[in-house]
Amino acid sequence: SQEQTVAQAEQLNTNPLAHYPELQLFIAGEWVSKGDRKSEDVLNPATGEVLGELPHATEADLDRALAAAEEGFKVWRDKLPEERSAVLRKAAALMREREEQITTAASLESGKPIMQSRMELKMSTEVLEWYAEEGRRAYGRVLTQRQPGSRMYVVKEPVGPVAAFAPWNFPQGNPARKMGASLAAGCSCVFKPAEETPATGLLMAKCLQDAGLPDGVLSVVYGVPHVISTYLLSSPIIRKMSFTGSVPVGKALMKLAADNMIRTTMELGGHAPVLVFEDADLESTLDMAVAAKFRNAGQVCVSPTRFYVHESLHARFVEGFTARVNKIVVGNGLDENTQMGPLIHSRRRDAISDLVDDAVKNGATLNTGGEAIEGPGNFYKPTVLSDIPLSARIMNEEPFGPVALINSFNDFDAAMKEANRLPFGLAAFAFTENTRRVNQLGEQLEAGMIGINSFGISVPESPFGGIKESGHGSEEGIEGLEACLVTKFITEV
Ligand code: NAD
Repeated sequence: SQEQTVAQAEQLNTNPLAHYPELQLFIAGEWVSKGDRKSEDVLNPATGEVLGELPHATEADLDRALAAAEEGFKVWRDKLPEERSAVLRKAAALMREREEQITTAASLESGKPIMQSRMELKMSTEVLEWYAEEGRRAYGRVLTQRQPGSRMYVVKEPVGPVAAFAPWNFPQGNPARKMGASLAAGCSCVFKPAEETPATGLLMAKCLQDAGLPDGVLSVVYGVPHVISTYLLSSPIIRKMSFTGSVPVGKALMKLAADNMIRTTMELGGHAPVLVFEDADLESTLDMAVAAKFRNAGQVCVSPTRFYVHESLHARFVEGFTARVNKIVVGNGLDENTQMGPLIHSRRRDAISDLVDDAVKNGATLNTGGEAIEGPGNFYKPTVLSDIPLSARIMNEEPFGPVALINSFNDFDAAMKEANRLPFGLAAFAFTENTRRVNQLGEQLEAGMIGINSFGISVPESPFGGIKESGHGSEEGIEGLEACLVTKFITEV
């Protein structure tokens, strides 16, 4: 009734928790409640409060999801590309309609500022739409003849059922990339979003279901991460794995995938260098750098991390950076004024604390921050360290938190050597007005994505991925679709 609708709307306005759905599994088109399954509490990282109880999939659940993926694949690959495209477009439209619920749930469980969740929803819907378009262009080619009357041609086909594992830092963006690529290519997908941020992935799966995705094409499961991934990757049904997360976990999953020759897309960690040359526009570089560094409390794989600033600018850069950082408003992500939220769990906060303490012990200068914030929630102060010795762990290990590291350099070759020193190769950034140098940077920086005078390195049409230990394969761009396709050559005489 209208009264009920009004009461519901009022409750949603005053109580954001009313946006948080029951946590279920989604298997073969069915929403599965906890029952007598094992479960875990999902916590609000800003308050420590329990948001919901997440059921863990049993082996029988995973078997059902796998069987559904096998059957669902046959149904989905036989649909016309334009039919698949229509489902993805409709799902994106439903996400926009349900923006308030999805973004509130995402900020509740990830802690990120609501503005950032809204931007992520915009990006995620654009990713689904990009894949909806690109899936219609999975063209093959016709080769020249070797013999009159003969034909040789190449076709692209969906690789098969995909197992996808996503982390918690972009609870909408990661699922959009993984579901978008596999579904647009005509694959089915068994998907495990992160246990820390399960509601967002489920709400997105609901959009796909309501958009007309046939039952079984997508299943969403949760549990103990290595138990689920080991089980799924040992099944001969799975033909491709897509993983976003840390380098050590990525290596372990690739070993499992090798046993069944499962194709992989690995989007792993980074430790992005930022080279700031003497001719950079200092003020605008500082504005962009601080906003980029503290986005999602630094829990971003392409987060700018090691700043190398020309010695002529270094002191002013540290001073300007620190002054801006001291103004960052830290708080609950649902507060519209918040610019930086908490870290995802207490483990991450403790890891950051250890890395910063180690750097200071090794002789780094602490310019601001450097400690956890007392009270509930996993808050850590936005932190600036400068003149950090290379022996400090934080100069070698991915911090994945709100810490900027600012060192200086005096010539191009030294800066380049330092930028490329680590085994990571995800993102790299440089700020300069010198076009000759821009070309050298593009050629010499060892990274899958390079931003010159910008930290914006991800749009749906650009390939997102790393080199070296940061992984292989790309998501988004034409490369993202290609990663879910196999090549078949056919010759007719
Ligand atoms: P973690 O390695 O325990 O978890 C990271 C993500 O990987 C989580 O979503 C987790 O569910 C998943 N995961 C872990 N083991 C898995 C397994 N065996 N099979 C399938 N999925 C598995 O660490 P954490 O403390 O949650 O995050 C910290 C580290 O993770 C960071 O230092 C960073 O390197 C990495 N990380 C990277 C990204 C990225 O975008 N590349 C995102 C989140 C985390």
